[in-house]
Amino acid sequence: MAATADRIQMVSSDITQMTVDAIVNAANRSLLGGGGVDGAIHRAAGPELLAECRTLDGCETGQAKITRGYRLPARHVIHTVGPVWQGGRQDEPELLAACYRNSLQLGVENGVRSFAFPAISCGVYGYPVAEAARIAVREVRRFLASDERIETVYLVCFGPDVRQAYQQALSER
Ligand code: ADP
Repeated sequence: MAATADRIQMVSSDITQMTVDAIVNAANRSLLGGGGVDGAIHRAAGPELLAECRTLDGCETGQAKITRGYRLPARHVIHTVGPVWQGGRQDEPELLAACYRNSLQLGVENGVRSFAFPAISCGVYGYPVAEAARIAVREVRRFLASDERIETVYLVCFGPDVRQAYQQALSER
């Protein structure tokens, strides 16, 4: 088994192009599509993805649901709902951490060995990027340390601000 550090990889990419077992979608509670990464994933996956999402009855903030990937290179999409940043006193850090944990857990239960995560809540939902990156890195590290089945978790950067924040978070212990 590779060391935990080698199983976390930062990449600059469009997540819809990634060949992994599952990409994670920063969705909204309806799971019926939106802008940002959610819109890009639905466009790339095709209308079958929306049809499956309609059967899921939405998703609570911090929770996750899994679908097939349809026309994506990824076999699965794990849909999770990040918190909207409201200043930090509405459980945003715990809810964001739960997104990472619950997505990883649900993936593992479905045989997922490689994951790609966008920077959940760092777009329209307004989460401060440096803090969100620290939470993402902490939760992925913890999960990998306790689970030997996962091969690689890619933290996908879409833009220089997120890239810089992950670089900093990964350099901290
Ligand atoms: P949220 O509503 O959770 O904030 P957004 O989709 O607005 O979700 O943004 C989350 C992150 O996903 C942002 O850092 C944004 O730059 C990034 N993002 C947007 N499109 C893509 C894409 N195609 N691939 C990877 N990341 C993306």
